[in-house]
Amino acid sequence: MTLESGAMARITERLADLASGAFLTQAVVTAKTALSAHFVRVDLRSDRFRSASWTPGCKVQLRTDRGQMTMRTYTPFAWDPAEGAVSLVAYLHGTGPAARWFDRVKPGDPCELLGPRRSIDLTGVGSRVLFLGDETSVGLAAVLGQTPGVTFVLEAADPAEYTEVLAALGVTATVVPKTADRRDLLAAARPDAYDLVVTGDAATVGPVRRDARDWTPAPGKVFGKAYWAEGRTGLD
Ligand SMILES: Cc1cc2nc3c(=O)[nH]c(=O)nc-3n(C[C@H](O)[C@H](O)[C@H](O)COP(=O)(O)OP(=O)(O)OC[C@H]3O[C@@H](n4cnc5c(N)ncnc54)[C@H](O)[C@@H]3O)c2cc1C
Repeated sequence: MTLESGAMARITERLADLASGAFLTQAVVTAKTALSAHFVRVDLRSDRFRSASWTPGCKVQLRTDRGQMTMRTYTPFAWDPAEGAVSLVAYLHGTGPAARWFDRVKPGDPCELLGPRRSIDLTGVGSRVLFLGDETSVGLAAVLGQTPGVTFVLEAADPAEYTEVLAALGVTATVVPKTADRRDLLAAARPDAYDLVVTGDAATVGPVRRDARDWTPAPGKVFGKAYWAEGRTGLD
């Protein structure tokens, strides 16, 4: 790096920090709990959260690194407007910016984020729901965990680990091994008169939505959103 390009890089970093200070919500990490080898829960607090509009399925986007504008998306749950508190749960895979952020962050650390913002909106979801997803659907599952009438069927690389993590978050789920043909997920028992919620791997969400057109009984409303895709970073 030349002296000139080094100075430019520092100016760009400084601008990113200034823009973040102006536009992002400033929160603080109040707790971090390892739920298993691959899942971590982080609790956040901010005065801005008191007046925020939390809806089931909304998202927040974390700024993962100072000096950059890299953002990664997570699903808030357990929000408490009175306390200005909210929680996130992350599936840690690989060494992407969010995986590194969740790994290194500790209570007392600052956290900058956008949101809550609208994503999949489950406000109008019916009283019976078939919820399909994967490890990245963990936050959304935690949002619906206590809702009666939701059947959770999730695919995972390690079903036993994910079953325990979900149970710790108050979600009773059937977790099936992830397979290329999604056979176990597609074979999930369908309740009568239900809405379908499907999130997670883009390679699952698309095929499930297409397959669902031929299901009997057919789903009422379908809520679908890909949360990640092989070879793509920060999909949103
Ligand atoms: C609306 C929305 C809500 C979301 N909510 C949650 C949530 O509550 N909890 C949660 O854990 N995730 C959630 N995600 C998914 C999360 O944003 C992605 O997994 C994100 O890519 C993680 O960022 P990263 O920096 O660790 O990896 P990236 O830098 O984005 O990706 C690095 C590499 O890992 C791959 N990759 C990304 N995700 C996975 C995965 N799950 N399994 C295997 N490989 C993967 C990418 O394809 C890429 O090759 C959500 C996404 C969206 C869009």
